[in-house]
This record gives sequence, C-alpha cells and structure tokens, in this order.
Amino acid sequence: MRAIYPKIDDKLKGINTLRKYINKYKGVEVQITKYDKTNGYFEFEEQIRTLLVVFPNLKEVIIHTPIPFCDLEMYIAKDKEEIFNIIERIKALTLELGIKIDLLFHISWKFEIEKMITVPVLMEMINSIKGFNIEILLENIHFTEDFLCPLKICKLIGSNQLKTCLDICHVHCYTNMMDLDIKETLDKELNKKDASKYVYSIHFSKALNNDGYKDKNTHGRMHDTKKSLIEDVELLYEYGMYDSIFVPEIAEEDYENRKDQIEEINNLEDIYLLMK
Ligand SMILES: [Zn+2]
Repeated sequence: MRAIYPKIDDKLKGINTLRKYINKYKGVEVQITKYDKTNGYFEFEEQIRTLLVVFPNLKEVIIHTPIPFCDLEMYIAKDKEEIFNIIERIKALTLELGIKIDLLFHISWKFEIEKMITVPVLMEMINSIKGFNIEILLENIHFTEDFLCPLKICKLIGSNQLKTCLDICHVHCYTNMMDLDIKETLDKELNKKDASKYVYSIHFSKALNNDGYKDKNTHGRMHDTKKSLIEDVELLYEYGMYDSIFVPEIAEEDYENRKDQIEEINNLEDIYLLMK
C-alpha cells in the first residue's frame, strides 16, 4: 500500500482524532452527506479549504459523492449537467488550492448497459478534466453481478484520469451472497496487469460473519482478527495491488470517534511496510 487515507465526512468530524494519520499520509477521503435530493448538488469547497488550513501539507482529497447520488447512473438519469457543474467547480478548486482532487462514483449496472449509457458521459467527463490534477474513480458495489464493471470501463476508456476504487468488502459480500469462493472468482475475472494498472484505491473493511449485506451491522467493519486483515491484504497483493491507496471505510455510522478506523489503520501499519 502506497498510503492510508482516513475517511471523514463533510462536516469534517473526526479530523482531530485522525490528525496524526492525515498529516502522515497527506490525503483523506470525504464522504458527502448533505446534498440536494432533486439533482444531487452538494457543497465541498469550504470543507476542502478548511482542511487545507488545518493540514497545510495535504496533497489529495477524494470526494465520495452522496448516497444515492454516488451512483453515477443517478446523475445521468436525473440531471447529467449537474456532474459537469461539479467538475467545473473541482477544476476551479484544484487551481486555487494546488492539490489533487478525485471524484468517486459507484457503478451499479452490468458492463453491457454501462457501455451504452455511462461510458459516453464518462468520456465527456474525462475530456473536460484533461490537464487538471483530477481523477474520476469508479467503485464496485455489493450486489451487482458484474462487480468488476468499474475496472472494465477503465480499461475500455484507457485514460490515466479514470481509475477504479476496489471495495474489498463489497467483493466479499457479492461472493458470500452467491456462495462463491472469492479466490476462484477473482482468478476467473481479474488479472494482475489490469488490477495493478487500474485500481487506484481500495475501500478496505470486512463483511463480518460471511455476510452479503443482509445486516448493516456486519457491513464495512473493522477486521475482527489480524489473520483476516492479513488475508485480505495478501489477496489484494496477489493481484498486484500493492501500490494502491488504502481507505479504511469503517463504522460509517460514527464519524465522530473513528475508534475502529484508527485501530484498523494501526493494525495495517503494524503489519505492512508503508511509504517512506
Ligand atoms: Zn466503498
């Protein structure tokens, strides 16, 4: 892993307890929670400006779009123009602050459908951010049959400003639901070359009790044993994802204390050699 970026919310809860890690890795992922339900508009400028004041060394912010507008398909169905408004605002902000800003969306449908509906919009998005310090990240969700669809889209478009955020908890959920062996499934679907090239970040957490998101309390949890944490990291490393940024996406019902997230980061640091 190249770095560990803590996850905070758009009220910047938890930055005090996570200060040490944000200073060390110079990056953070911000979950947007407040948004306009009619078109998905949300604010981020003031929050990112404040982050830069608190962390003057900050180099990168990943913006996790608001649920359910984190599904790129939602914006396309509701108001495609809103995506381009957000992109224009991000372009202005990177120029103002001199940091990298990534915009993360979930991808929910099968590749064949995304190719017709989402890919043309993504190509427009990529065109409009050319030359800017911005990347678009596409994340796999837990119930889609085509869980590697984000990676297939990245490969199809082939831009270094379009990458995948692989949510390992969601991969577990999917294989648990389908009663599949995770290793066999990944072997069938994923090759090392593509994974190392297109997976930019990892949403790292565990689905407890081999759950498939039947229970919210088992989803996105801290690894309950060091053994299971090691197994997940080794699985990712096996497919060449050792240079990805790890984002412990854990216990999102409590952005204030981040106790579990801190423990997961400490365990990752204990076990793995990190960036210099
Ligand atoms: Zn995730």
